[in-house]
Amino acid sequence: MTASMERPRVQECVVAACAYNRTGDCHAFAITIGSSDHAHCHTFIRMPESGGVDTLVAQVGACQRADCRHNSRLECHAPGIRVGPDNDLADCMTYDRR
Ligand code: SF4
Repeated sequence: MTASMERPRVQECVVAACAYNRTGDCHAFAITIGSSDHAHCHTFIRMPESGGVDTLVAQVGACQRADCRHNSRLECHAPGIRVGPDNDLADCMTYDRR
């Protein structure tokens, strides 16, 4: 049997323009963070319809920012993350360069 792993939650996302965002919460099942030059949220999308599941709060599925001190083997180990505008409209604000 495979042990389940608790993933870091998106504790807050202030990017109201995203289809997954409702009242400061991300409702995607999981998000992906990372670009070559900053901690971009790749799950961010502008669409007319709402996305995700109302009863879920998103978790960090994967993160490509290997230079973040919370990152190990391209997985996030922070207690939780916040998403908002930084280099881009939707970035991981918890990113902390080693
Ligand atoms: S805190 Fe660091 S490792 Fe976690 S999602 Fe943000 S950039 Fe990635």
